[in-house]
Amino acid sequence: MQTIIEPFRIKSVEPLRKTTPGERAAFLEKAGYNLFLIDADNILIDLLTDSGTSAMSTEQWAAMMRGDESYAGSRSYFRLKTAVEDLTAFRHVIPTHQGRAAERILFTCLCKPGDVVPNNTHFDTTRANVEFTGAKALDLPLAESADTQSQGPFKGGMDVDALERLIAEHGRERIPLIMLTVTNNSGGGQPVSMANIEAVSAVARRHQIPFYLDCCRFAENAWFIREREPGYQNWSPKRIARRMFSFADGCTFSAKKDAFANIGGLLCTNDPALAQQEKNLLILTEGFPTYGGLAGRDLEAIAIGLEEILDPDYLEYRIASTRYLGRHIADHGVPIVEPPGGHAIYIDAGRFLPHIPKHEFPAQSLAVELYRHAGIRSVEIGSVMFGEHARNELLRLAIPRRVYTQSHIDYVVEAILEIEARKSELRGYVITEQPEFLRHFSCRFRPL
Ligand SMILES: *Cc1c(COP(=O)(O)O)cnc(C)c1O
Repeated sequence: MQTIIEPFRIKSVEPLRKTTPGERAAFLEKAGYNLFLIDADNILIDLLTDSGTSAMSTEQWAAMMRGDESYAGSRSYFRLKTAVEDLTAFRHVIPTHQGRAAERILFTCLCKPGDVVPNNTHFDTTRANVEFTGAKALDLPLAESADTQSQGPFKGGMDVDALERLIAEHGRERIPLIMLTVTNNSGGGQPVSMANIEAVSAVARRHQIPFYLDCCRFAENAWFIREREPGYQNWSPKRIARRMFSFADGCTFSAKKDAFANIGGLLCTNDPALAQQEKNLLILTEGFPTYGGLAGRDLEAIAIGLEEILDPDYLEYRIASTRYLGRHIADHGVPIVEPPGGHAIYIDAGRFLPHIPKHEFPAQSLAVELYRHAGIRSVEIGSVMFGEHARNELLRLAIPRRVYTQSHIDYVVEAILEIEARKSELRGYVITEQPEFLRHFSCRFRPL
């Protein structure tokens, strides 16, 4: 059977509000053509992010009622700890309010000015938290990832030769840890192979440098390994995930991604002295080590989510549905970052709208048109977000987990192909107002 069906049925629904193209044109004008400034009530399909936007299951909601809100030693903490230990075997499990809190605590403990932290590609909060300590965040992506149109199975990995050169150049004393982001979010949601995880781990161990996974999408990565890496076809996603974790000394995790939770994160390590230092910092800003800034009910939702995310039926549907969106637009001439990633499709707007130069923000133009035409919210990842450092002009369509059905995805495909047919009419934008930092969240535009 070819038809993709959601491996769940719907028990509680949330109505979507339709708006007319005329209403949306007015909302756009009022928001200065910045989709972050449009009220969510005026969005039909929201593909801004897959973070914290998942639909929880009946089991998760039931578990929330069982949440133990004790300040210290909560039963819910032990339930989460058991679930994380079973999956990762890490010896110390520290809850945090989201992924970036785990990052801040880890880097504050390990990094100092003059240090260098290598990663396949740092996520933006990861980079910011490394650099806030005075250390330098360095990306070592595979050379093949530079070409958005190349078709490699594991374009998200780290260049291991470049890592060896970096260690030779700086010395191991200047490298407090090595990180690998799975899947590679900033690198188009591309997966990392088990062989690459193993190779990076071997280099780290040889030089006695701690090796951490930024494992926000560990389950999607495990599914790609099962589909694409020889030898894993008969492995369960859980067994693959356990093997991924076995190569690392610890991890940072955002439960807003592959744990179906709306909030939460984790910091794990095998190092007892480091764990103690981390808990001391945690108490200062997040809370007591058995809740880490979360309610007991949140800990319950994460514990259940970590099991549900590894359901093979769910992962098969998840990856197939994202691939379906990618293939249906790419095979009709809309260039995307190939091959389709796990959590999002990235349209290469620079290629799609060659008549709009970089400095007139082609991906922003496409984002505005997709909203005006069909009420769909996406996000520019290009020169608006990164200024002159942008490598590509991308439009990201991130898919919230278990939220939209296959017919919603068909609607998105249809909307994009309708815009494709008249894409030469799209025009560029100029920025009329912008703040000093992170301008994409609040700047205003004017159409040309
Ligand atoms: C989302 C994300 C983070 C940060 O997690 P938050 O929960 O948003 O703070 C870190 N790394 C990667 C790869 C992410 O996708």
